[in-house]
Amino acid sequence: MNRLSRLVVLAASASMLAAPALAQDAQAIRTAEQLRDRAMAGSGAYSIVEAITTRFGPRPAGTASERAAAEWGVGYLRAEGFDNVRLQDFPLSAWSRGQESVEIVGRHAQPLAAVGLGGGEATPPEGIEAEAVVFETWQGLLDAPASSLTGKIAVVLQDTIRAQDGRGYGSSSVMRFQGPTEAAARGAVGYVLRSLGTHDHRFPHTGATRVGEGTVPAFAISPPDADQIRRLVALNEGPIRLRLKSTAAFQAPGRSQNVIAEVRGRERPDEIITIGGHLDSWDQGTGAIDDAAGIAITTAALKLIADLPQAPRRTIRVVWWGAEEVSQPAPAQGLAGARAYADSIANEVANHVAISESDFGAGRIYGLSLPSGQADSDFQKAAMRVLTPIGVLWNPAPARGGGPDTGPSVALGVPAFQLAQDGTDYFDVHHTADDVIDRIDPKAMDQNVAAWAALLWLIADSDVDFRAAAPTP
Ligand code: ZN
Ligand code: ZN
Repeated sequence: MNRLSRLVVLAASASMLAAPALAQDAQAIRTAEQLRDRAMAGSGAYSIVEAITTRFGPRPAGTASERAAAEWGVGYLRAEGFDNVRLQDFPLSAWSRGQESVEIVGRHAQPLAAVGLGGGEATPPEGIEAEAVVFETWQGLLDAPASSLTGKIAVVLQDTIRAQDGRGYGSSSVMRFQGPTEAAARGAVGYVLRSLGTHDHRFPHTGATRVGEGTVPAFAISPPDADQIRRLVALNEGPIRLRLKSTAAFQAPGRSQNVIAEVRGRERPDEIITIGGHLDSWDQGTGAIDDAAGIAITTAALKLIADLPQAPRRTIRVVWWGAEEVSQPAPAQGLAGARAYADSIANEVANHVAISESDFGAGRIYGLSLPSGQADSDFQKAAMRVLTPIGVLWNPAPARGGGPDTGPSVALGVPAFQLAQDGTDYFDVHHTADDVIDRIDPKAMDQNVAAWAALLWLIADSDVDFRAAAPTP
């Protein structure tokens, strides 16, 4: 008997022995288990990723492609029988990368596999050619004195560490967002970093960088190209010269949009649980793992609930957020879709029971964290009884957020929960041309949907109050 089957047996015997106090709890647990088992047998999530990525390809924020995907989503969600399906527009300036290249010139001249950072600025038409100053670590750049990089291109080669919970990316993403600013502050005219990726394929990873005064054109090179620069430095045959070119630009102010749909609660429809993913993607791949997968997982989970003979007591709302990926010229800010959503609920925050997002790929769920005060609660015990048999462990650390698009709502006081996904491989393809549906295991998506559907039912068909249980600060 393997570990998982042992857990299944243990969970089964636990549910036979320990009947919950209230009949309605027992019924809620039974329904959650049915939802879980139905999803494990085939959730339909993969076909949603397939539809979005096949029909619309890349969906950069604020583009016609993102809009077309959102409009398709409205039709799809209506056809699937969801309630209150609508678009929520908000202003956004789209960014396009145009033409770009990074090459070594002079001695050892050769092209590099590189990509511009999202929101980055253009070079002059002839490009920027300068000597590279190579730093093995981000701290090395931060320790460089003011003016020490005047007229140079700063290059940072620090690796991103592979980790199940994504903490390697968590600590290295500052190199992408703040790198061009820190380089500019020391006089640099350009910035190049080793992609925030954990693989050794020749795919460079894009991603948002800070927009505004005091930055320089910025590019990520693929991990093997970073290793190539390391070898060239080791040759010790004089300075490395780079030429950077980009025609990137922000478009005239336009719009993006969130897609919103619900299953209305049968008893307390004004009490809302919000879930979702983001519909926009970077322009290179088709945004399958980031984040058509998150949309598919949460939508398929809600569809399973919509198909039950009776709705849960509370309303569950799925949001396909727009414009998660991009930063914006000041005074606008990033996470524009999430901010627009938070603004729209600001007058009714007390009705919002909980929020969470699926935005970490399509890997299996291994952990649950709930708002503080839930350890050993009846709700936590019920949730783990349903989730343990599919390999989900209890994480006693309270959820601090539920994904990037939940941030502005959490800041208003909406409690967050998190189903942690195995991200061991996520940063192999994240923000690259290799982010395509071929990287997704449909069975892992089914397990995700199982966890989401079961947990959502337990929250929505109960009166659990995550605020009341939280310890007073
Ligand atoms: Zn994402
Ligand atoms: Zn992303």
